[in-house]
Amino acid sequence: MSAFGSNAIHSAFDFSALIVCITVTFFTFIHHRTDKIQNKVFLSLNFMLILNALCELLTISLENIRFQSHSIFRVMDISRLCYFLLHNALCPIFFFYVACVCGAIYHVGRKRILMFSAFFVVTEIAVILNPAFHWIYHFNEQRVYCRDKGIAAIYISAALYFMMALIMLFSSWRALTAGKKKALIYFLFVILTGVVVQLIWIDFKIELFAESIGVLGVMLSIEDEDDFTDAETGVYNRYSLENNLNTYFIKNRTFQLLCVKLINTDITERTMNNGAAGLVMVSITDFLKELIPRYHIYLTSSDTFVITVFDRDEKEISALAERISSRFDKPWRIGDTDLLLNAMVMSAKAPDRITNTSDAFYMADSPVPSNIDKKILVDSDLDYLMRRAAVEKAITRGLEEHNFEVYYQPTYCTDRKTVHGAEALLRLHDSVLGNVFPDEFIPLAEKMGLIDDLDDFVLCEVCRLIQSGIPAQYGLECINVNLSVIQCMRPGFVERINKIVDSFGVDPRHVNFEITESVAASDYRILSDTINALKEKGFLFSMDDYGTGYSNKQSIFSLDFDVVKIDKSILWSVHDGKLGGIILENSVRMIKQMERRILVEGVETLEQAELLNKLGVDYLQGYYFSRPVPKDDFIGHIKKAYEAV
Ligand code: C2E
Ligand code: CA
Ligand code: CA
Repeated sequence: MSAFGSNAIHSAFDFSALIVCITVTFFTFIHHRTDKIQNKVFLSLNFMLILNALCELLTISLENIRFQSHSIFRVMDISRLCYFLLHNALCPIFFFYVACVCGAIYHVGRKRILMFSAFFVVTEIAVILNPAFHWIYHFNEQRVYCRDKGIAAIYISAALYFMMALIMLFSSWRALTAGKKKALIYFLFVILTGVVVQLIWIDFKIELFAESIGVLGVMLSIEDEDDFTDAETGVYNRYSLENNLNTYFIKNRTFQLLCVKLINTDITERTMNNGAAGLVMVSITDFLKELIPRYHIYLTSSDTFVITVFDRDEKEISALAERISSRFDKPWRIGDTDLLLNAMVMSAKAPDRITNTSDAFYMADSPVPSNIDKKILVDSDLDYLMRRAAVEKAITRGLEEHNFEVYYQPTYCTDRKTVHGAEALLRLHDSVLGNVFPDEFIPLAEKMGLIDDLDDFVLCEVCRLIQSGIPAQYGLECINVNLSVIQCMRPGFVERINKIVDSFGVDPRHVNFEITESVAASDYRILSDTINALKEKGFLFSMDDYGTGYSNKQSIFSLDFDVVKIDKSILWSVHDGKLGGIILENSVRMIKQMERRILVEGVETLEQAELLNKLGVDYLQGYYFSRPVPKDDFIGHIKKAYEAV
């Protein structure tokens, strides 16, 4: 016996390994982490180690019996054989486990699985045939265990699977979280140390123990799902969805993403106490679990479930969405109350429609569209949602990368020769979406709370242009700047505007703010105060889009506008018949009686310009004169117009 070797030490190591593995199995079961393929593979790895340890302990204890009989030798032989069979399977199963963790398992074809198993099968057959051929080991006359040449094949096979696991781990490196990476590397190192030590010092049998420490580590770091689950419902949380989606997208897996969004949660919260709101989610979770495995359900916010569905055809998916949606037609029993809940189900293909993790979260987080009466939204219904997501990203990117540019569209006097001013119109040139127009991005920027930044940007650009003296040089009176009404009513708005304009040393009389007609009646007072405060400083004001809103005309005209801009739709409706002409004429007459100057926008033809001249309109704006153009083109345009007069 070598310096290290005594049966007592062997059995101590093996016994420790046994206890560790039983503990790991016990904890895995009490935490119910047994339903995923990954969990099952992990558990089988554990069982293998337990059986391994038992075989070893049996062999050692039989060796210790003083009077050895033939039948004892028999049992020892069988036990040793089982040990080899089981131990030889460890590395292949470990490889399989890593494949599950990395998500690689899902797109390996049958052929490749057979190929991967070949080495394992051959070595297992060699072990089974060992009693006859002694390829791997034998016992000499003194019944001392001796390795044979075939043992090399066992080690090579193990090393091969181990290497493959490592290669897979590194090729899936991006798909793993930082915690998983560190844990896997550390515990691989522990296992490897055990194997190498036992390979060099045959009697220092720590391999099994090192392996059991390895599985313990894997349980603590990878199989532990506490950070990934929602404590109340037991399903996965947002963080987990993010990790899993990253893996799915990196691995190019196809799946369907279902979002179940509760709509009237505020009512639930008001009618029931807090704890009950939790019970509602638990009830819904229980229902969903009847349809989908637990590990494909995620609770991403207090009112949204996300479900990932794999390997089902379109029909099955729409049936599933239908089943979920129709369940909400019936009340949910919470304690002794029946609660009726509203839910919207959204269903989108990945990676076709939902192409990355942030798209998926956009879908999950976006508020339920109020203008849709469907209860299930499928792929094409979600297009607008995805476009909105893309534009939102473009806005943020635009502010960071300076993709916004102010264009100018001149406004003319009715002589059609003199440029009176210009309207500043914002453009977004995005590297991904190309040119995005303000009708699309302004309302989103308002919702995102970024409209302040955009408005400030436009005002600064306009001030810079006025400061250059060029507009004045060519006879322009003012530059119009569009303001979002919501902004005008925020506290501190007047100060902000004054500060910007003062910082450029620009005379406020050269700045004309456009505000749209569509203002809620209740807000007139605040708006009126804002306008008056700015008018006192000299700023001009225009009422934009006159004729599109349904506001109370009296209230509108109580606001002190200098100019009223008649919307292009009014001008264009003249073409459509007599009624259009009457509306335009009457609008012009009424505004004149109110003693406001009039600008008509959307002038595209000479005919329109002449008509408006006849009606006595003051200013014209439209493609007939110029489209909105970049600053330099605009300067070129006004210079030419000035020189032509
Ligand atoms: P708006 O204030 O009514 O601006 C006039 C819109 O009509 C501009 O569209 C302009 O390009 C377009 N237009 C002018 N003349 C003609 C014409 O003859 N024919 C046709 N077909 N269209 C004409 P744009 O630039 O796409 O702006 C759309 C809206 O976006 C604007 O409507 C305004 O409400 C908003 N917007 C644009 N820039 C800004 C900005 O800097 N800040 C804010 N808050 N809103 C802005
Ligand atoms: Ca405007
Ligand atoms: Ca307008």
